[in-house]
Amino acid sequence: MNPFQYRRAADIAGAIQAITPGCKFLAGGTNLIDLMKNGVEKPSALIDLNRVALAAIEPLPGGGLRLGAMARNSDTANHPAVRQQYPLLSQAILSGASPQLRNLATNGGNLLQRTRCPYFMDIGFPQCNKRAPGTGCGAIGGLHRTHAIFGASDQCIAVHPSDMCVALAALEATIRVGSRSGERQIPTPIFTGYRAALPRSTPTCNRTS
Ligand SMILES: Cc1cc2nc3c(=O)[nH]c(=O)nc-3n(C[C@H](O)[C@H](O)[C@H](O)COP(=O)(O)OP(=O)(O)OC[C@H]3O[C@@H](n4cnc5c(N)ncnc54)[C@H](O)[C@@H]3O)c2cc1C
Ligand code: SF4
Repeated sequence: MNPFQYRRAADIAGAIQAITPGCKFLAGGTNLIDLMKNGVEKPSALIDLNRVALAAIEPLPGGGLRLGAMARNSDTANHPAVRQQYPLLSQAILSGASPQLRNLATNGGNLLQRTRCPYFMDIGFPQCNKRAPGTGCGAIGGLHRTHAIFGASDQCIAVHPSDMCVALAALEATIRVGSRSGERQIPTPIFTGYRAALPRSTPTCNRTS
């Protein structure tokens, strides 16, 4: 058991203020807690976002929808506006995981979940550049049936595990991210072109989930 602090944020400003080196945000916990139990993630602190008012799904003035980071995957997939205007997104979310997981998993957590590469998820395998940079890649030359065909590097061939993100990228969604220096917007075409744009020798694993 690795010791860690637990902090509960009341709002966005409080969550950002609570950030310290080595901390992680806790949303549904369906990915993070598993990885902590396996010894893959060892955060120094958890900042619980479950009381932060970020669960709204609401129309934008110029058209489109804003999906809150803390909206549950089930609520997003079953929201009437999502079903009507973005059936692709609804179907993509409902194609993943299970009803129990989708009831707990959040949109923010889904975006930032880590890869499900078995070598990454099991610390019994010493070779994994994503988990331990410079150790090599167990999947190259190993079990790689569900790994990348396009856009991989010679350091890591893992894929992003989210079904939701594929739909968001196809729909050209924009990700809004808050920080101490303000808010920035990340267009998903950058997200999709990210790996292809990296130098072949750069481990994609150290740069993105
Ligand atoms: C058995 C199983 C099967 C699954 N099958 C599928 C599948 O078929 N398809 C699929 O797409 N997914 C699948 N998943 C993954 C699941 O969708 C994710 O675990 C879930 O979406 C993560 O959301 P969460 O809220 O629980 O995130 P958490 O586990 O709480 O967090 C995940 C990561 O995101 C970070 N984070 C969370 N919220 C924020 C935020 N607001 N701001 C900044 N950082 C944040 C956390 O710090 C952490 O690093 C599966 C998971 C399991 C356990
Ligand atoms: S594919 Fe990436 S995550 Fe999987 S073992 Fe190789 S470096 Fe690790």
